[in-house]
Amino acid sequence: MTRLDPIESETRVGNRAIVIGAGLGGLAAAMRLGAKGYKVTVIDKLDVPGGRGSAIWQDGHRFDLGPTIVTVPQLYKELWAACGRRFEDDVELKSLDPFYEIRWPDGTKFVAQHDTDAMRAEVARIEPRDVDGFDKFLQDSAKRYWFGFEDLGRRSMHQLWELVKVLPTFGMLRADRSVYAHAKRRFISDKLRMAFSFHPLFIGGDPMHVTSMYILVSYLEKEFGVHYAMGGLAGMAQKMAAVIEDQGGTLLMDTVVDEIVVDQGRVRGVRLESGLELGADVVVSNADAGHTYDRLMRHAPKKRWTPSKLKRTRYSMSLFVWYFGTKGTRGDWADVGHHTILNGPRYTGLLHDIFMKGKLSDDMSLYVHRPSVTDPSVAPEGDDTFYVLSPVPHLGHGGVDWKTEAEAYKAKVLAVLEKQLLPGLGSKISTEQVFTPETFRDRYLSPNGSGFSIEPRILQSAWFRPHNVSEEAEGLYLVGAGTHPGAGVPGVISTAEVLSQLVPDAVT
Ligand SMILES: Cc1cc2nc3c(=O)[nH]c(=O)nc-3n(C[C@H](O)[C@H](O)[C@H](O)COP(=O)(O)OP(=O)(O)OC[C@H]3O[C@@H](n4cnc5c(N)ncnc54)[C@H](O)[C@@H]3O)c2cc1C
Repeated sequence: MTRLDPIESETRVGNRAIVIGAGLGGLAAAMRLGAKGYKVTVIDKLDVPGGRGSAIWQDGHRFDLGPTIVTVPQLYKELWAACGRRFEDDVELKSLDPFYEIRWPDGTKFVAQHDTDAMRAEVARIEPRDVDGFDKFLQDSAKRYWFGFEDLGRRSMHQLWELVKVLPTFGMLRADRSVYAHAKRRFISDKLRMAFSFHPLFIGGDPMHVTSMYILVSYLEKEFGVHYAMGGLAGMAQKMAAVIEDQGGTLLMDTVVDEIVVDQGRVRGVRLESGLELGADVVVSNADAGHTYDRLMRHAPKKRWTPSKLKRTRYSMSLFVWYFGTKGTRGDWADVGHHTILNGPRYTGLLHDIFMKGKLSDDMSLYVHRPSVTDPSVAPEGDDTFYVLSPVPHLGHGGVDWKTEAEAYKAKVLAVLEKQLLPGLGSKISTEQVFTPETFRDRYLSPNGSGFSIEPRILQSAWFRPHNVSEEAEGLYLVGAGTHPGAGVPGVISTAEVLSQLVPDAVT
């Protein structure tokens, strides 16, 4: 059966929109299109909305699969307001303070928190000579926030001229310098260099190579706090889906798009794996930008995103994520809070192995998520829900067969956790699930099994990143981690804001 309705004239934009992918960027895009009068159909291969921000439920535990840290809450409030609603009526955000704790193998701890004086005291405890550097770093961070996040990050960068205009500011802010290089200039202590440069890892960037614009995160945390969405980001995704349905939109879950149908340079709709064709005036792809151009647009001629350009594109690292529930442990490990970053013996060397050599190392640095200390809905009473995440090379480097490696790697992660954070953990685990880079490839159709799509290096950012309005077909738009401004929940929510500036209002 075919439902590819003809478009009446070449220039007319009607009101039928298809969004491929119900990731947080796709859902935000659908909400924005609904607010503009489009009749939206969101299509996703998963059975629940949220993409990387979805959850799985197992033996009484809810495992929030991806994002755990919510920052810049005003972005969500603005998104809901654009749809004539109040975010607070749908989602409860809980402020966390302290934000997170960083630990090193020698027992040193750094507690990141809201109060700037308390942060100064933390810095002084590790290296008294670094307090001045910290103050300067915060000022550097504020400047980059206002330019990089509030200005560039919230408007389209698809025209080269827009890039040319901001080049002098990029130069002045030394955007060519990496996040790590910037931290190195401001801090003497290696530990503080790590504590103020690791943030790009949360959006898939190598701190040694990502532009120092990303130091903006320190200001953003200080100014707007670190929050947790009660019910998890998966709960927020469900609320977004409900808004879309209230606007008259539809979500088609468990459904794979096989191809974006393009005729004479204009999108006509999509073809599903089942062969069914759905017509649309506007198609927005929230699938990975690489997957969009390489697979979904495989038959369309390309001006920019040719196979050879896609081959040269650098992808973010991947992740090994171990989700587990522990029985009767709510009173245990009293010093382990909601977010802990556990450093291994190496920082820069490990980053080099992961991003440059593509080598799976024996040592590791881990992020440990324990939402049960904040949100009782994640675990049965008295139990805990955890995930532990280790950044690992993406599949494009080759060399790791995760089918055979996963168990051995998990045993190494367990040994580190038992030694440094959660003694006796092995005997307390009651249920578990492991995601490897192969899971990222197969579950999210993520090229190279990358955790965060295209790496946010300077020559893969702003105009250089896949544009939110495609140059490859009229009526095609892109949102999500692989597009401008980039990965992370604030990033993908902003891709939808940029989209709404580019898509004309629907003609009904
Ligand atoms: C483990 C982990 C932890 C993270 N932690 C944080 C954090 O604490 N804070 C933060 O801000 N960010 C975090 N991030 C990053 C953040 O989660 C992502 O950048 C963001 O959620 C990506 O959203 P997206 O809109 O790009 O879509 P995705 O979540 O990538 O969703 C894309 C969707 O498209 C669907 N799809 C793809 N191709 C097709 C097709 N052909 N047909 C049908 N459906 C298709 C997929 O099934 C998927 O559901 C984390 C990510 C991970 C993986």
